[in-house]
Amino acid sequence: MIPVTKPFMPPKKEYEDYLKGIWEREYITNNGPLVRQLEAKLKEYLNTKNVLFTSNGTIALQIAIKALDLKGEIITTPFSYVATTSSIVWEGCTPVFVDIEPNTLNINPALIEASITEKTSGILATHVFGNPCDIDSIKSIADKYNLKVIYDAAHCFGSLYKDKSVFEYGDISTASFHATKLFHTVEGGGIFSDDDELIQKMEYMRNFGHAGFGKFNGIGINGKNSEFHAAMGLCNLNFMNEVLEKRKHQCLRYDDLLQNIPLKRISIENDALWNYSYYPVIFNTREKALEAKKKLEENEIYPRRYFYPSLENLDYVETVKMKISNDISERILCLPLFHELKEEHQLHIGQILTSI
Ligand SMILES: *Cc1c(COP(=O)(O)O)cnc(C)c1O
Repeated sequence: MIPVTKPFMPPKKEYEDYLKGIWEREYITNNGPLVRQLEAKLKEYLNTKNVLFTSNGTIALQIAIKALDLKGEIITTPFSYVATTSSIVWEGCTPVFVDIEPNTLNINPALIEASITEKTSGILATHVFGNPCDIDSIKSIADKYNLKVIYDAAHCFGSLYKDKSVFEYGDISTASFHATKLFHTVEGGGIFSDDDELIQKMEYMRNFGHAGFGKFNGIGINGKNSEFHAAMGLCNLNFMNEVLEKRKHQCLRYDDLLQNIPLKRISIENDALWNYSYYPVIFNTREKALEAKKKLEENEIYPRRYFYPSLENLDYVETVKMKISNDISERILCLPLFHELKEEHQLHIGQILTSI
């Protein structure tokens, strides 16, 4: 069986070494030493000014929206994971979808201005599959209309834009360290911003607003993460160079194996260095995509329709159809991609796709 993804598992012994320390200290959560160590190492590895380790990537988004005090309408992309839209609605705001650019699959900056109204307070865009958005264009629109920008950078571990971590852009960027993501802490997420004051505010928000015992600095929620999750992150971080290198290899091998099939790949944004976190392929028709999925599944290979459906189809949002996002979501598959995926598996996948 070949799944679409598998979590990276570090050597068990290395995790057990961290467990020893946890048992000695008997301190298992609430901003413990391993959480602080992971944050320090992440900043160093990614070269970011700040990071807050959170319990997942969705709470990171919700805290970001809350911390920037976004109200009314938030411009967003329909081509993302459901958490991007649901977080907006959860925070009492209205998502206003802007269709995507068909080559990068990221929000199309040329269409944003037409959707701005008096009620617009921010833009929440996803760097789809770790491929950075057209950050400069989005920034100039945001500056012109005085809008805040949040990037859902869930997929972006290791991606660069203009030689800096993608996490350094926007007022706030959020990451997911879920088990299915390139770098994971089992469950987990990250909040990034170079605004120290904003980071401090979100640090309070992550911990109920606690400012010492019995004192509170504003409203908060429980977005903390534990020593056990931090330990997994610390173990995995040591392997990230290897993981990133391997992904690139695997993606280039797919490129090679599938070169004679009429499949479209995503175009990487100018100025970006991509992390090869997913291998999406776009078929000419929905029928072809579903046929490919069926054929692969008959061979116990499980690609995923990702992202599907286009988010304007959610029954709790009211909007018009997003033509491009909706069309692509019907025709796209992400092929299996994970650290242990072998060359022979990729060859097999290549043969199957060539035969249809
Ligand atoms: C995974 C993901 C999230 C949610 O992250 P969790 O850590 O699972 O809460 C949000 N947005 C995108 C684009 C994702 O892929």
